[in-house]
Amino acid sequence: AAKQRGTRAWAQYNEAMGAQAALRMELAHRLKSALVEGELSMVYQPLIDVRSGQIKGMEALVRWKHPEYGFISPAQFIPMAEESGQIVELTNWTLWQACSVSPGMRADGGSAIVPVAVNISPVYFQRDDFVDQIRHVLKKTGVDPDQLQIEITEGVLLKEQQQAVTKLTELRRMGVVISLDDFGTGYSSLSYLKNLPIDKVKLDRSFVVDVTTSEADAELVRGVIEIVHNLNMVVVIEGVETAEQASLLSLLGSDLFQGYLFSRPLTACDMQALIRNCCDFRQVFDH
Ligand code: C2E
Ligand code: MG
Ligand code: MG
Ligand code: MG
Repeated sequence: AAKQRGTRAWAQYNEAMGAQAALRMELAHRLKSALVEGELSMVYQPLIDVRSGQIKGMEALVRWKHPEYGFISPAQFIPMAEESGQIVELTNWTLWQACSVSPGMRADGGSAIVPVAVNISPVYFQRDDFVDQIRHVLKKTGVDPDQLQIEITEGVLLKEQQQAVTKLTELRRMGVVISLDDFGTGYSSLSYLKNLPIDKVKLDRSFVVDVTTSEADAELVRGVIEIVHNLNMVVVIEGVETAEQASLLSLLGSDLFQGYLFSRPLTACDMQALIRNCCDFRQVFDH
């Protein structure tokens, strides 16, 4: 009987996996037309300067609204796009979008534009024409290089480390600010921090979840922040959801916050309005 149960469980498992694989294939196929059909859109989430409470940047995040399945998470379809090569077209598009909305991202009457950061997947980064593409989009849209930022992960280093360093150095020389995303997950090692020409380190959300309840987690975050500061880089904390987390992370030395506590990702229009009307976000967590 146990064996039979086992067999049935296995069959159900197989069926579920089969359905999932079929769904994956269908989505991968569908993604091809999603760009053309206008099913993709961009949203923007603010980064808050811990000391001034002002919006100091924003991250551009892609959204896919499938006509049948509704919103599909980028965590699900970005890997598909990387596998199929569609990530190239997709990233070109995100860069155009981000640069196109950039001129409107300023406080009323203000001259300073809030910079926008675009996620760059390793597949896109490793292409020979990567830096030229960035230069091309900047030139065509007339956006200053210091108004565009990029977010990379340690995945860009899996192949040809020296070429990666060369590309990043070239971008930085142009004035493009570079963030290392999802730091502390996967295989990230401290040596990346030392070897990579980067400006900001984004601590993954997993560091934040228990920071107010676990002393060990808090000490870990304090230590990482100190290391990053000693390397003259800026610390961004991702996924700040509560005022308690923000207060503590502020005491631990964070420079920038990003998270639902301050704002969910917004349409370009809503993001512009937020920048124009914005108050001091310190009142959200500073008591
Ligand atoms: P990421 O680059 O680390 O982006 C941060 C993710 O955390 C976003 O998820 C954002 O919506 C989410 N987030 C922000 N604040 C909070 C919070 O307080 N709590 C929680 N639980 N989550 C928060 P999203 O938009 O679903 O994107 C997931 C991942 O997909 C991104 O992680 C990034 O790796 C990838 N991605 C998104 N857009 C793009 C894109 O345009 N190009 C590429 N290559 N990858 C993208
Ligand atoms: Mg990111
Ligand atoms: Mg991130
Ligand atoms: Mg993350």
